[in-house]
Amino acid sequence: MKKIDEVLAGCRSVAILGHVHPDGDCVGSCLGLYHYIRKRMPEAETDVYLEPFPKEFAFLNGADRVRHEFDTEKVYELCIVCDASDRQRLGKGAEILDRADRTVSIDHHKTNTGFAGQTFLEAEISSTCELLYEMMEEEQVDREIAACLYMGMIHDTGVFKYQSATARTMEIAGKLMSTGIPFTDIIDRTFYQKNYRQSKAMGQALLNSSLYAEGMLICSVLTAEELKRFEASSMDMEGIVEQLRLVEDVEAAAFLYEMEPGIFKASMRSRECVDVSETAAAFGGGGHARAAGCTLYGSREEVTKRLLERLEQACLRKG
Ligand code: 5GP
Ligand code: MN
Repeated sequence: MKKIDEVLAGCRSVAILGHVHPDGDCVGSCLGLYHYIRKRMPEAETDVYLEPFPKEFAFLNGADRVRHEFDTEKVYELCIVCDASDRQRLGKGAEILDRADRTVSIDHHKTNTGFAGQTFLEAEISSTCELLYEMMEEEQVDREIAACLYMGMIHDTGVFKYQSATARTMEIAGKLMSTGIPFTDIIDRTFYQKNYRQSKAMGQALLNSSLYAEGMLICSVLTAEELKRFEASSMDMEGIVEQLRLVEDVEAAAFLYEMEPGIFKASMRSRECVDVSETAAAFGGGGHARAAGCTLYGSREEVTKRLLERLEQACLRKG
């Protein structure tokens, strides 16, 4: 029996949770798991809880069944958390986790704190969706499940180009493709396509950027006031830090945006050697060596100074 079936055996109620500000891998893994459980155990009561997510992901089957209001009174026999490395990352979902009889974390973040009763952690695997595929019975993975897992895989590998993508990643992607999923559409509509707000915000972020550490580090900030001007929200920030990282000779990129006055979300990426998860962890965040994030509190000047001090040191050490 594959691992996920062992976890599910005999279970009558399951809550599936992901992290706050759900990204492609988070939404893909939660919905992929949802369809798998519905297929394997149609009698079980299965609910997915996620914060509102970008509408590009809404084409996935089951997206309309995701609950955005967290039922914190309900007690589930099993709570499975996908793609979240610590309890704080669950937001309101933490209350559902705390009440559940049994808790399981399925994750690929090396900063996973072991917050769940049982942890399936594979930090070398490029996405939680890829890990989930490895935990599922292969012949049970139909088109509906495949579309979800494929979407998560492309998001966490930058459409298969990051170092984290392996020959096995491509092999699994091939198997998912062979179920007949509209893969071109999934890539274009959920990854590359930008709406007008996103494109304006990206433009401003690129204009605001500056180089540090002898050109090895790039950083940009969007303030709450700028976001308001473009009518952009946190859901429109996807892809900006990736674009910064593509600047020639840059080893590490940081992008911060002001979620609320004095509260900044930082996203970091690196190319080859700087471990940005160390910097993120130093500020209470986490992630992977090449992609990590954290939240910083203070004025724009304070938070950028604090973050850049560490990142600059990391770049110069490796440079
Ligand atoms: P992003 O920059 O796209 O928000 O996140 C990059 C990676 O870092 C993702 O794997 C994400 O889950 C992780 N990450 C981002 N922000 C945080 C945070 O505040 N805490 C933790 N633990 N991980 C984060
Ligand atoms: Mn992920």
